[in-house]
Amino acid sequence: MAINNVKGTHDIIGKEADTYAYVENVMGQIASFFAFQPVRPPVLEYSELFVRGVGEGSDVVRKEMYTFLDKADRSVTLRPEFTAGIVRLIVQNKLIPVNELPLKFYYCGPVFRYERPQLGRYRQFNQFGVECIGHGSAYADVEVIALAYTMLQSLGLENVTIKINTLGDEESRNNYRAALKDFFKDKVANMCGDCQNRYEINPLRILDCKVPEDQEIVKNAPKMSKYISEASQKRFQDVLAALEEMEIPYEVDDTLVRGLDYYSETVFEFHYVSKKGNNYGAIGAGGHYDKLVHELGGPDVPGVGFSFGVERLVSVLSDDELLPDLSMSLAAYVMPIGIDSYKYALNVADELRLLGYPVDICFDDVKLGNMFKRAEKKGARLALIVGEEEIKNNTVIVKNMESKEQITVSFEELGSKCEEILAGKEEK
Ligand code: AMP
Repeated sequence: MAINNVKGTHDIIGKEADTYAYVENVMGQIASFFAFQPVRPPVLEYSELFVRGVGEGSDVVRKEMYTFLDKADRSVTLRPEFTAGIVRLIVQNKLIPVNELPLKFYYCGPVFRYERPQLGRYRQFNQFGVECIGHGSAYADVEVIALAYTMLQSLGLENVTIKINTLGDEESRNNYRAALKDFFKDKVANMCGDCQNRYEINPLRILDCKVPEDQEIVKNAPKMSKYISEASQKRFQDVLAALEEMEIPYEVDDTLVRGLDYYSETVFEFHYVSKKGNNYGAIGAGGHYDKLVHELGGPDVPGVGFSFGVERLVSVLSDDELLPDLSMSLAAYVMPIGIDSYKYALNVADELRLLGYPVDICFDDVKLGNMFKRAEKKGARLALIVGEEEIKNNTVIVKNMESKEQITVSFEELGSKCEEILAGKEEK
């Protein structure tokens, strides 16, 4: 019996894989323009990293992690997000003391969450994101938001809505947490089991509950904005003013809390509705974090970052027909006549490939007519025919598939002749 892929994973094949590479390249290039460097943390980390980093109160840690014991009985986890791993990498490699701050990194790769698979929601998906660590300025937040916005614009996405909010500093959050505990005290017994847990671990998470009956209760909960300290209010106003200055549109949404526990001060999400009216929800999200680096054993420095779901980006780009034609046309199709010509055919293909032309070879012992049909189907511009005679004379028959003209060239002049024909400069 055939074996299928694991539920919630998906295969990315051929042209689709090209579109992933395109999206990742565009974003990587913009990240370099903003002076971010690439980083590749491992997929596998000790589970404690995410429990301490992402937080026991988050759904990701409580319900969605791929955690197992390795052969030495250590608990390891397939990363459910990148930020904790990058902070671990920075702390472990002692990058903070020896570098000018902030450290600016970008990353891309698969993450794993045991969620209920549905449209746009996978158990293994890809994220592209950045972290800027070691500078607490409100303007570091703005630069990171501007980077994300520039990436989306460079991909051609116009209908982006940036939702933004402040969670305030530690004092603000402690006060708000106390207010939420007070509000939910006599209601939590009638709420879902998750909310009962959240009430104990991190009542802020209750605001994220998706159960309709609980959402009705949440509607009347105290608003976060009332509990934000003066310093955090001022910081947030600085962020908003700078966004306005940069003409980056935003909507303040004081219900935005984000699902990961490490955030403080600015948090934001990028939402997208395609031209066809399909609402993709959040295609990316991020925020500032004050305590994460310290929490993971590093110095007491803040950071800010975001992450985009590459699958969602590819979906919206395809929906809005914003993906460029990435197909690379085949310059030549090498057609060896008989098995004895295969070795020579490899040399012929190599000659053109080294000049930068995409070349394919027919390794099926089929009739010449059949090979021509294949060359046409593949969109090859040249057919290069080699048989016994050509091997003996060290030559190649070059046929222009469009004009149907055919010449015999020596192996030495193969590259230059093909270049002439492909550039449309051949002599008549
Ligand atoms: P988060 O790390 O939860 O802030 O998510 C960042 C982005 O990753 C989201 O805005 C989505 O675009 C994407 N994402 C999150 N969960 C999934 C999932 N299960 N499947 C596909 N994309 C996801």
